[in-house]
Amino acid sequence: MSIQDHLLREYPNADTGQNVTDKYLGFLSDEFKSDLNKMLFATSVCSDDVNVSTDFRKVLKRPFSMGGLGGLPFAGYTGMVAFAHHIPDGGDGFIFYGPHIGINSEGRLGRMLRQGQSHETNSCGALMLALDRFKNGGSSPLMEAKHLDFEQIQLEEALSPFKERILSADNQAKEITEVAMEVIHRRIRKLSGMAKKEFNCDRLFCLGGVIINTDPGTPDYVDVRHFSMYNVNDLEEIYPISLLESEAFKAL
Ligand SMILES: [Zn+2]
Repeated sequence: MSIQDHLLREYPNADTGQNVTDKYLGFLSDEFKSDLNKMLFATSVCSDDVNVSTDFRKVLKRPFSMGGLGGLPFAGYTGMVAFAHHIPDGGDGFIFYGPHIGINSEGRLGRMLRQGQSHETNSCGALMLALDRFKNGGSSPLMEAKHLDFEQIQLEEALSPFKERILSADNQAKEITEVAMEVIHRRIRKLSGMAKKEFNCDRLFCLGGVIINTDPGTPDYVDVRHFSMYNVNDLEEIYPISLLESEAFKAL
């Protein structure tokens, strides 16, 4: 069985990053008549270098990076507002978000062979570390100095309400990735609603999915879970914040 056969057995709806890129950018330009030259692209994907190969980055320039470990949008509300302010006049916003998971040649999820290495490592390392701590107890050795391991600690706190669901799943590595997908989706939705008055555009496109990392000879895949076009003015206004009236905030 090839790595792609294993992958498609786990994620039957996944497609190569290149195909997903072509399909959705085609949608945006053909169906929605979006000018890709005026589109500002943001990502909320894990910091892991493996995700630099995500194909949207090859087409859309200047990604605004909202994501940190696990793919959570650690740039938060301030990051969302800055992205909203930076959208070119007459353009649209586009956010691609989601967690990632490796798969090895035997079909094991959470592991991958990386470029230039002969030994496998975890992917997503941050999610697999969180899983290990859920299974075996323990926490970051830097709990007393959280600022030195902020994202991992926050990631584990965000996932901990789902610990029983993750640990009782047949495939825990897959399940923690599913939970991360849901958490990231909710946060992107909430942050965009909070920042609705800040967008220098009317339309915000959001594409969410699980990135599946393979070995160096095989393309990465994306299992798309969400694709939405929001009229920014119709976004549910969540926690409208009016305290940030400073000039520095307006000029983010
Ligand atoms: Zn990762």
